[in-house]
Amino acid sequence: MLLYNLDKMIARVTIDRLADIPNVSVSEGVPLSDHTRFGIGGPAALYVEAASEPAFCVALGIAQSSGAGYVVIGAGTNLIVSDVGFDGIVLRFTANQISSDGTLVRAEAGAELQALVDYSIEHGLRGLETMTGIPGSVGAAIYGNAGAYGHSIDECAERVRFLDCGMARDFTASQCQFRYRESIFKQQKDWIILGVELRLTPAPATELRKIADDILKIRLEKYPVSMKCAGSIFKNLILAELPESVRQQIPERVVREGKAPSAYFLEQVGAKGMQRGGVRVADYHANLIYNDGGGTARDLCALIDELKSRVRVRFGLELEEEVQHVGRLS
Ligand SMILES: Cc1cc2nc3c(=O)[nH]c(=O)nc-3n(C[C@H](O)[C@H](O)[C@H](O)COP(=O)(O)OP(=O)(O)OC[C@H]3O[C@@H](n4cnc5c(N)ncnc54)[C@H](O)[C@@H]3O)c2cc1C
Repeated sequence: MLLYNLDKMIARVTIDRLADIPNVSVSEGVPLSDHTRFGIGGPAALYVEAASEPAFCVALGIAQSSGAGYVVIGAGTNLIVSDVGFDGIVLRFTANQISSDGTLVRAEAGAELQALVDYSIEHGLRGLETMTGIPGSVGAAIYGNAGAYGHSIDECAERVRFLDCGMARDFTASQCQFRYRESIFKQQKDWIILGVELRLTPAPATELRKIADDILKIRLEKYPVSMKCAGSIFKNLILAELPESVRQQIPERVVREGKAPSAYFLEQVGAKGMQRGGVRVADYHANLIYNDGGGTARDLCALIDELKSRVRVRFGLELEEEVQHVGRLS
């Protein structure tokens, strides 16, 4: 049974206009659990995929002027979607062309980040190889400044193309205000990323492939492909920004690249193995929560709140979620 009366929430004319756009698919009452790696989330009243930039621009314009709420998602690998779903329009941009001109690589936002990493390695271009195994799309990687093993995508991003009120605009990397897992796009949620240009440097493909393969092996042990999770739930903490009293409690051996891992604080408050319904903290990693089967967003959010509260009480610290939310908590 559908939870929504679509005609009431989204005018039939909006649905028809979206369905008329070439290269756009429109589906009603789509379970978002099928579009999130957690495998959690109720239905989207309307789920829209656009496979070309012109199609996406028109679809987004219709969504924005429809009066219904809307959200743009990528591959759903960093999302907690409410158990009651999203009573508006969920859009996904799936255009995924990747091309290059010497050391300049262009990718559309709907491309898989891994496809971009592989492309750069095959073309003997250094800069993205440590990002191998990070799931999701290029657009979301820019949105959250994805990274791993000491590097993040902002280091090679040169220009980002995005939609602002129906107009395509270009920002340089400095205008994107990249920081650790942050960009201006997290503040301006209506600016939707269309593509990116990255400046890479020439290097032997075999060397890059070896680096990527070694990293992927370690990552697959930590995050088995079948694990229903979002990677790290919380951001790490910038050591220099912590109060002196907290800094003194952090052993030097856990500090990496000027950051104190959230996992350290979580471990101290007994997070490993904690469970709420079908949702569990990994026994081997305190900052990794997964759906063990039958987990709900309610369980997940309750567990996150409990972990935050324990760290707040013990250390006086506020952990910040890396994971993004869609829909209101049921
Ligand atoms: C096993 C595992 C390991 C992970 N490891 C890492 C890691 O090492 N490093 C790391 O940084 N992340 C990691 N992550 C998190 C995740 O891979 C990244 O956050 C990724 O960039 C999310 O991509 P996505 O396409 O799935 O985005 P989604 O989860 O669908 O969306 C994430 C956010 O991006 C926004 N968004 C999506 N597309 C656009 C767009 N075109 N324009 C504007 N906003 C957009 C959405 O609105 C949402 O707020 C991991 C996740 C998993 C499951």
